[in-house]
Amino acid sequence: MRLVRASTGQVLKLAASATLGAGGEAKVFAVLDAPELAAKVYHRPTAERADKLAAMLANPPEDPMASQGHVSIAWPSDLLLSAHGPSQVMGFLMSRVRDMHPIIDFYHPKTRRHRHPLFNYLYLVRTARNLAACVNALHARGYVVGDLNESNILVGETALVTLVDTDSFQVPDPRNGQVYRCRVGKPEFTPPELQSVSFAWVDRKPEHDLFGLAVLLFQLLMEGIHPFAGKHLGRGEPLPLEARVAKGWFPYAPVGRAGTAPMPMAPPFELLPPRIRDLFVQCFNLGHTEPGRRPAAAVWQAALLEAEASLTACAANPQHRYGNHLRACPWCERREMLDGIDPFPSLESLKRRFFARQRLRGRPLPRPAPAEYALAIAAARAAIRRQRRNRVLMGLALATTGILLVIYWLWALKLLLH
Ligand SMILES: [Zn+2]
Repeated sequence: MRLVRASTGQVLKLAASATLGAGGEAKVFAVLDAPELAAKVYHRPTAERADKLAAMLANPPEDPMASQGHVSIAWPSDLLLSAHGPSQVMGFLMSRVRDMHPIIDFYHPKTRRHRHPLFNYLYLVRTARNLAACVNALHARGYVVGDLNESNILVGETALVTLVDTDSFQVPDPRNGQVYRCRVGKPEFTPPELQSVSFAWVDRKPEHDLFGLAVLLFQLLMEGIHPFAGKHLGRGEPLPLEARVAKGWFPYAPVGRAGTAPMPMAPPFELLPPRIRDLFVQCFNLGHTEPGRRPAAAVWQAALLEAEASLTACAANPQHRYGNHLRACPWCERREMLDGIDPFPSLESLKRRFFARQRLRGRPLPRPAPAEYALAIAAARAAIRRQRRNRVLMGLALATTGILLVIYWLWALKLLLH
């Protein structure tokens, strides 16, 4: 496919082989002529999409991580026009995001242990702060994410965050006062007042995002537990998550949580510093009836910066970081509770695990530098997968040779007998 870059007139070639992702509405391509860019091309381009993109290009948000050379909001940077026929906006260009992973990989304890074993609690708090900074930057320019959920947030190994799918955000157009709505949303990140409301009919407000933001922050800081997940105390069937959100059953609220109690496997709420606990209660309990009371993203940002500064390292395992309001390490306690499964394994235990595996397979022990262990483990896994594949291929080759030999001998025998 050939498309024209609107600002320069340059013709860009987008090859199907360079597809980075595809969805119901569009496809994302790597741009061969500009490796730092990605192109999003709509299946059905419309005039409304073109107007929305123009409004976004005219008023980009300030990227809070630009000083670190990182793109934290994958905002459109140029329009892509059709190369043939009447000029039509087909999609847009944006910065290409590399080496970033879905946020759930980090807050889900099992996936984190498996894929990012050295990502400790300090990094989780920093990820939370960086996420709040992105949302704050968008709200400062009048944008509302609308569909804030785990699938449009990417995180890197250094806790930097990138929001993607920015063209689904709610965009105001200052030129004509029009609002381009966000027509989607996931129930578990949707505030009580919008549960069972059709998104196409409402203008979203920043306070709606602040509910979804607090859900994600809670999951980052509380080992992936959803703030409204709880043990059902009343009679009858337990209610689904969205019904609990609608009723305002926040199990950690000091009052008004009649139907629910925290999940037995959830970390204790006291794990969080008092200020952070207050903000969650403000958002989910007081903010239930008064959405305006939900803490702003900038308030979260400041409180999380404080929380990060208050972290201290455990003497038994320096990967355990916890707030200095606690007397004992909560992660050592949690490890006991989980029968020895450490949510933040020490470097020493990772080394032992890695070496034990290597020994089992009779390989020489490599000696990578400490920070490379996580990568070394991933490389070892890839090598094992390769080995298995090679064994299967070798088996197939031997079987084929055997069959050919049998056919040859049968043929030779037939010739001899004649
Ligand atoms: Zn500890």
